[in-house]
Amino acid sequence: MATETRTFDIIIIGAGPAGLAAGLYAGRNMENAVLVESKAPGGQLLNTELVEDYPGIKSILGGDLAAAMLDQALSFGAEIVPGEVTRIHVAKDGVKTVETTEGTLRAPAVIITAGGNPRKLGIPGEEEFAGRGVSYCAVCDGAFFRDVPLAVIGGGDAALEEGAFLTRYASRVSIIHRRDQFRAQGLLVDEARRNPKVDFIMDTVVDSIGGNDKVQSLALRNLSSGEQSTLDVGGAFIFVGFIPNTELVDMHIDHDKSGYYITDPFTMMTSVPGIFAAGDVRSQLTRQITTAVGDATTATIAASKWVEEWRRNRQDTAAMLADDMISGAV
Ligand code: NAP
Repeated sequence: MATETRTFDIIIIGAGPAGLAAGLYAGRNMENAVLVESKAPGGQLLNTELVEDYPGIKSILGGDLAAAMLDQALSFGAEIVPGEVTRIHVAKDGVKTVETTEGTLRAPAVIITAGGNPRKLGIPGEEEFAGRGVSYCAVCDGAFFRDVPLAVIGGGDAALEEGAFLTRYASRVSIIHRRDQFRAQGLLVDEARRNPKVDFIMDTVVDSIGGNDKVQSLALRNLSSGEQSTLDVGGAFIFVGFIPNTELVDMHIDHDKSGYYITDPFTMMTSVPGIFAAGDVRSQLTRQITTAVGDATTATIAASKWVEEWRRNRQDTAAMLADDMISGAV
């Protein structure tokens, strides 16, 4: 492990759409900024087949949009360093120390764009069959399930969108949702309803996942009638939301009951001065690529101004101390 310490104006944690947009704006603002990313740049775009709701681009593969965003950020001088952030510490003078598996970074401002991880159902069989029929990524694993029946668990945008994607491979996709109303956008629900390979199992939860070597069946329970049944499937794709990566800072940052950071809507600053948040770690109505890059734009411009002010205050304090020393007050 490297032990080098490097100093920047702004440290951006995560290189998904929000992080890459922050890198682009930081580069254009001529800030000395760095992005830290433990995986390939692109974040959840790399798990997304098609993006059809990014204004100006009618339809683009998630991976292609990620590559274009990366290319643009790099062309404006963004630097990306590999590494996993293990801790963020804030000193009394406002300097943030970001410890990573590859070294230590310091800066007056940090923008957290660390996204999140898929939420687990926490049912018997889920962990046991992970990678053997249980998946959280249709784009990554869908092609392994040709001509077999699949289950998708969840009722949000991800479940409906990924469920439709899986019909390319599967013989049938059963979307299992715990309520009788979907959380997902109406358009996605309508599309799934029109898809002859999709069926819906509503008001129903999965109690356990069973099989031998691989997933073979799900134990279902209807929440209205209490009726229990078994569904034979070759795989279970779980899309029940995700958990934001907001545990990195070793001090309290205000967050909502689900753990998302609460930010100032004008600047995207969290309750800790100089720490900003953008994208999926931020408490807000929806989490789209468009909102992630919008948050990041605001956060980066605000962070630039914040760094400027922080520097000015530091110089004023240093000048004040020097004056006091000259006049004998210190
Ligand atoms: P989400 O919107 O939070 O939906 C999660 C779904 O899983 C809900 O239907 C929820 O049921 C269900 N659920 C949660 N816990 C469960 C449990 N223990 N057992 C059974 N079901 C459970 O999450 P998401 O679909 O991953 O989307 C996350 C964010 O990304 C959203 O803001 C979404 O808009 C965005 N997104 C957008 C797009 C797009 O625009 N194309 C695509 C993907 C994601 P209830 O409804 O009963 O709570």
